[in-house]
Amino acid sequence: MPKLGTLNRDNETVTPSDLQGTSTPGVMVSFVDDGNYPETENYFTAYLQAQGEVGCIAVTTPSSTSVGTGHTAAELVTLEGEGFEVVGHSVTHPDMRTLTDAELDDELRLNKEWLTGLGLTVENFAYPIGYNDERVRAATRTYYNSGIGVAQDVPDPTGYKSAVLSIPPLTTYHLKRPDFNRMTLEEAKLYVDAAISEGDCWLIFLTHSIYARPEYAGEPYEFLPANFDGIIDYIQSNNVPIVNCKTGIATIGNAIDFGDYQALDQVDPGHMTKFDESPHMVVGCNGASSIAPAMNDEILDVPKGYNPIGAHDNASPPSTWKNGKISWENYNGTDMVAKGFPTALAGTLVTSRISNTAGNPSGDGWQYQEIYEYGTQHFWRRASAPTDAWGDWKYFTGDDANFELIGEATNSALDLGTFTAGETKTFDILPSNSGDIDLNDMVDVTISRHPEGGLIASGYVYSADGTVRVQVTSIPAQTVDAHDYIVRVFEGQL
Ligand SMILES: [Zn+2]
Repeated sequence: MPKLGTLNRDNETVTPSDLQGTSTPGVMVSFVDDGNYPETENYFTAYLQAQGEVGCIAVTTPSSTSVGTGHTAAELVTLEGEGFEVVGHSVTHPDMRTLTDAELDDELRLNKEWLTGLGLTVENFAYPIGYNDERVRAATRTYYNSGIGVAQDVPDPTGYKSAVLSIPPLTTYHLKRPDFNRMTLEEAKLYVDAAISEGDCWLIFLTHSIYARPEYAGEPYEFLPANFDGIIDYIQSNNVPIVNCKTGIATIGNAIDFGDYQALDQVDPGHMTKFDESPHMVVGCNGASSIAPAMNDEILDVPKGYNPIGAHDNASPPSTWKNGKISWENYNGTDMVAKGFPTALAGTLVTSRISNTAGNPSGDGWQYQEIYEYGTQHFWRRASAPTDAWGDWKYFTGDDANFELIGEATNSALDLGTFTAGETKTFDILPSNSGDIDLNDMVDVTISRHPEGGLIASGYVYSADGTVRVQVTSIPAQTVDAHDYIVRVFEGQL
């Protein structure tokens, strides 16, 4: 049967309780200074210390071409003890998109090793110049808990919240970082206002305190200490905590974070190369989720990235997405009851629009809905195919008495050959006892003999005679071995 209790990928484990989404982290602000310079201490560190606040300093490895930091190693260790944080910033400060894989790995790893060797605990990384792409983000994930980018400052941050604030679910490897130096104090206050009006979110300011030097006076990127003092005062007066990145991630980081999730940056797409289409599955601290194509054999579509609370009810399922896709929506228990669903528990409603059944060969209608109740081993399922008339909800549980095996079949040593990336192949099979199988029943498909990585199979009852259609998808392009595909059909309880 499907593994409802845990989800394993890349050696990470989550449990249903991770999906409950009860966290309300509130509003936080961080300052991440590109702190390669002596002025860091004068204008950034010292003022924050005097105010009893903390900040983050991005530090490159000293070399003939970069100067590391204005702080000594001992000073950095002392600062860390006071709650400040050193974040990685590479060895040579390159545009990391231009590097070979080996060079990229060196920039990330050697910088962290050097900082760790000073006695620091380094968990987060600021991309030099903010530049990153999918390959850079994936490499950064190997060594760091987050990747901090750069966001363009805008006159009206309230109108571009998703581009300038980190809002659950976080784009963990492209955290937004608007450039404080390029703002007036009044503009910077608008960012704080936008974060407060958003609610649960994290505002990270980029500063370059080096540009406090006299030779930069009047430049658009000049760092004005008076503005820095002013924004600290403003944040304090609004009772918004100033945190380091470790606290930020611990407080508002995603409960589940797989793959490359990049919400659309409306203001400055030049800082990103890929939106939403890369394989990912994320669940924010508040339960907001996003899942992309190729994370499942059935193509998933969540139009705005996620639906925090589902808007549909039992009588009117969502229908505004394309055939061949699945919608995910999260509901709390109160809404489940109010909207007529058969449970009073919080959960995820999955609605499938894959109804190319024998009775509906055009394949444009609902196929099934499932409700996964958080923190339980239960789920509910009802089918619509082949006529778009919904059957009764049935209840499935790990208790065998409520989860009866009624039919089986094996397609032995089936050779499906070569897949292109994301390709799905199908075959039909008639299980034993097919006369007892109906369209509402639950199908589980197991691939035996060590399936290749990224090979996924699922199935559904395809026609009223009990035929099961098995769908096999490969996330990567690959040639697969011959496998046994074992089909089991289960009947739930009314
Ligand atoms: Zn830098």
